[in-house]
Amino acid sequence: MSLVPDFEAIPAFEHQSWQQQLSTAWRSASELLKRLQIASDEVELANSEFPLLVPESFVRRMRPGDPLDPLLRQVLPIGAEEVHSNGFVSDPVGDLASRRAPGLLQKYVGRALLIATGTCAIHCRYCFRRNYPYQEEPRTLEDWQPALDTIRADESLTEVIFSGGDPLMLSDRRLHQLCTAVDQIPHIERLRFHTRLPIVLPARITQELMSNLSDLRAQVMIVVHANHPAEVQADCEDSLRRLTQSAATVLNQAVLLHGVNDSTAIQAELCRRLVNIGVLPYYLHQLDRVNGAAHFETPLQQGPQIVEGLRAILPGYAVPRFVQELPGESSKTLMERPEV
Ligand code: SF4
Repeated sequence: MSLVPDFEAIPAFEHQSWQQQLSTAWRSASELLKRLQIASDEVELANSEFPLLVPESFVRRMRPGDPLDPLLRQVLPIGAEEVHSNGFVSDPVGDLASRRAPGLLQKYVGRALLIATGTCAIHCRYCFRRNYPYQEEPRTLEDWQPALDTIRADESLTEVIFSGGDPLMLSDRRLHQLCTAVDQIPHIERLRFHTRLPIVLPARITQELMSNLSDLRAQVMIVVHANHPAEVQADCEDSLRRLTQSAATVLNQAVLLHGVNDSTAIQAELCRRLVNIGVLPYYLHQLDRVNGAAHFETPLQQGPQIVEGLRAILPGYAVPRFVQELPGESSKTLMERPEV
């Protein structure tokens, strides 16, 4: 199978469905570099088991000719991934130790998380689940029964998080089935979706999806994932507006990444763009120490300094909390600037 999208065999990009856009996503690093007019000797590529995947919509927001483009850096497998770094492991946040049933993780009181699917529309090089054994998780509604039974039997749970992978990679029918099954559990008050698709594949925010979400009894929270202001433009901006005009609460979480978004100015512009569309900055995360991602790590004191800088220039609601996820903790750890 060719790794080069056959753009002639499909409708013009703007008229493609999200599934068509996904089928023509870039899967070859060398072809992506050609598309961006970057010479192959400007970048040392890695031959990773976690392959490149990025939709054309996201590529259109990159700067041609710039191997250091902050969006490109998030998706391009480079040689630095192959350097082993102490402390970087396959499961940095203790996902496997928190598994209560197939596909069901619980780390915090009152909330449980479903690995709704193992697929994504993009492969983020810093992803803390890049090694997750997705093949062991449920696929059919029947496979999901043990997880659903566990949620039903535990009245302390009030919120279910649909995660993955990316839950919006499920077809509308499959997503609707799973959401409805959870929504019918009386003590579940909120359904939360952790998704990067509104950012990287905005065409996924269809009328049918919005209508299915608005039919749910429980309150819907959508947590999107944009790291850099250049992601929040064009079709992405439109998709976020569609979400914020629905009844859902829409929040953003970002990861602080060296060479991508590690400055107060970049974070401030990201927050401004999000808030102007009605998306509230929720978390800025310290990088989870997953193997292959050490080159993205920022010093521990840098995040609190950036957030302090944001507080000086933005209203409080526009400033994310800087957090780190530590395995075994009862919540995310809020990181503040140490007193001097
Ligand atoms: S979209 Fe989310 S789950 Fe998928 S690769 Fe990126 S960070 Fe990981």
